[in-house]
Amino acid sequence: MKAISGTNLEQAKAHNRRVVIEAIRTNGPLSRAAIARLTALTAQTVSNIVEELEGSQLLKPDSPQKLARGQPITPYSINPDGAYSIGLELERDHAAGVLTDLSGTIRARVTRPIDPPTPEQAIPILAAISAELQTAFPFDRNRLLGVGIAMPGRYAAEGITSLTPIALPGWQHYEVGPALERLVGVPVLVENDATAAAIGERLYGVARGLSSFVYLFLGGGIGAGMFLDGHLYRGSRANAGEIGHIVVEPDGLPCVCGKRGCLDRYVSLGAAYEHLKIDDPGAYAVEALDAMIEEAGPALDGWLDAAAEPMRRTIDFLELAFDPQTIVLGGPMPAGLLARLAARMEPLYPPVDPDEERRIARIMIAATGKDTSILGAAALPVFSETNPQFAVLQKPIA
Ligand SMILES: [Zn+2]
Repeated sequence: MKAISGTNLEQAKAHNRRVVIEAIRTNGPLSRAAIARLTALTAQTVSNIVEELEGSQLLKPDSPQKLARGQPITPYSINPDGAYSIGLELERDHAAGVLTDLSGTIRARVTRPIDPPTPEQAIPILAAISAELQTAFPFDRNRLLGVGIAMPGRYAAEGITSLTPIALPGWQHYEVGPALERLVGVPVLVENDATAAAIGERLYGVARGLSSFVYLFLGGGIGAGMFLDGHLYRGSRANAGEIGHIVVEPDGLPCVCGKRGCLDRYVSLGAAYEHLKIDDPGAYAVEALDAMIEEAGPALDGWLDAAAEPMRRTIDFLELAFDPQTIVLGGPMPAGLLARLAARMEPLYPPVDPDEERRIARIMIAATGKDTSILGAAALPVFSETNPQFAVLQKPIA
């Protein structure tokens, strides 16, 4: 693969650091030789990175293992207390945050129900959640790598910190990252909720270890997060995967985007609520809505029948366009309904190679449930290759 821009030494180091941390987080303790094998990095590069990460206390050596022959080998593990990060999630009806350690374990959690917020309301709430998380669990504040925040797309502008979500009313031209950064004092990274969920599922869920998959985020709308050939695919304005606005029904139902017949209007929690004649979902708590969906039973059959064919075509298109190992269904939609939808989509259109013996199912249900995007958001500062906080950790500790 060729990149358009060159890679300088610092960028390469940051990339390799991410790859090594991810390999150990996903696989458990690894020796330098095992890291080199898994990452295709040279032994020398692995040694340098491991030494650097050990120096900044992000990795710790376990006790050496004696082999029948040759030198004993030392496996390295993640030092959970080596770094912390905060993941925030802002949705129409709630704001939430988690504090995770470097191993990805949640150490504190805060949730606040809110009405659809303006930026002026939301930013202080998000800053307060971030402050509360930092007092809820004792840790070295110098080791806070940053804050990641997952928000619904679509986005305007370029650059991951200056994204302005245009799906929430009142947020047009509002730069979330810099505004929140001024209050929290650590780097803030903003990500589309579907993409954050794909990151979360890759670190914690059924997509662990997969290099190419599409995560379909089914919530108020439908969007896709994509890992392709081991890389997150964002697009030029972080809008890659905004498939909810593909027209599936010419002259169909009107959509907020201005078009008619968008996929969002047929395959989403919003569409399911509409089918159940829940006119104002914003008036209910999330748990109450989930209960209505779970209890609806056959009342949702009509919706599932209408949603199945647009979903089948969407799956067919995604498989043909991106050749993923699997497609994961997840997001805020209750797991029971996701499973019913997956069953109703069968039989799928024939795959590219019908004779292939598949080791991985074409469709999987996400394992991480409602935490997926917030965990993905918390992972953003850890896996960012431009996060300046890593330099802070390099400084010798007095
Ligand atoms: Zn639309």
